[in-house]
Amino acid sequence: MKPNFLYNPYGKFLQEKFGARVHKVSVHAGFTCPNRDGTVARGGCTYCNIVSFTPENARPKYSVRDQIDAGIAFVKKRFEAKKFIVYFQPYSNTYAPVKHLEALYSDALSHPEVVGLSIGTRPDCIDDEKLAMLADLARETFIGLEYGIESVYDETLQLINRGHDFACTARAIRRTRELGLQVTGHTILGFPNETEEQMLVSADVINALGVDVLKIHNLHIVRHTELARQYAAQPFRVFSFEEWKDLVIRYLERLAPDIIIERLYGEAPRDLLIAPHWNLSKAEIIQEIESEMRRRGARQGRLVHAPAEARRVTAE
Ligand code: SF4
Repeated sequence: MKPNFLYNPYGKFLQEKFGARVHKVSVHAGFTCPNRDGTVARGGCTYCNIVSFTPENARPKYSVRDQIDAGIAFVKKRFEAKKFIVYFQPYSNTYAPVKHLEALYSDALSHPEVVGLSIGTRPDCIDDEKLAMLADLARETFIGLEYGIESVYDETLQLINRGHDFACTARAIRRTRELGLQVTGHTILGFPNETEEQMLVSADVINALGVDVLKIHNLHIVRHTELARQYAAQPFRVFSFEEWKDLVIRYLERLAPDIIIERLYGEAPRDLLIAPHWNLSKAEIIQEIESEMRRRGARQGRLVHAPAEARRVTAE
């Protein structure tokens, strides 16, 4: 391992894979979510306010092609990006018949500046037919599936009204990997029923799951959510930045060094965010975490181990 290695950043993966600066362009393709429309449940996950993670220019009133054009124009102006991945972001982007999905994804891929797709979804919104279609597309281009794992504990998944258990997540990820598609996991640390030790153990479970990429979010309390109502009725601890910095570094140290890290914290629009308020820029957050890692001599994977408990959970 290189002496200056802190963690395995997503930007490096993109640069090495595509040989150029690549940015994601988010689109809203008009999907909904079975956890909101009554198929699985109503009301959605307790922390979810869809507006809080949908960029301004990704709105279903524009066609997907128009959103791609607008997103590329915006990103080109701000960064030196040369190639683009279309990120199907809000709601569950595989929640439709396979023919509809194939037409939608093929249209996005036909854009001359698009080099691949990243598709956000729930683990219960995928099946072998959809995965086979995606594996076919992946013969010619880059296709990544992004699954909301959120927690590896069934008790938490029930409390946050996810509408599926962890075994469902493990099955979807295993099947996706078998077909050679890249798997990104999205996880949240800070649910009030979980201890810090449980959060750290969850890194061992993620290692055993075998995700390629991980987004690590701190829990946010966002307006107009069930979690916001619970927080108002009975406030609970949310991580200050100093607490988060300590936890995420310890988490990274237990995470396998080959897992690519796409996010080290969560973001929400200021006007929707109830807590926590860190009052730091993105660059400051990353700089603070990295300099603390250097100060401690910490690096991703330094403490990797997979206790029997983690292996048992993922084997189910
Ligand atoms: S977080 Fe995702 S799965 Fe949960 S309600 Fe929101 S869109 Fe649906």
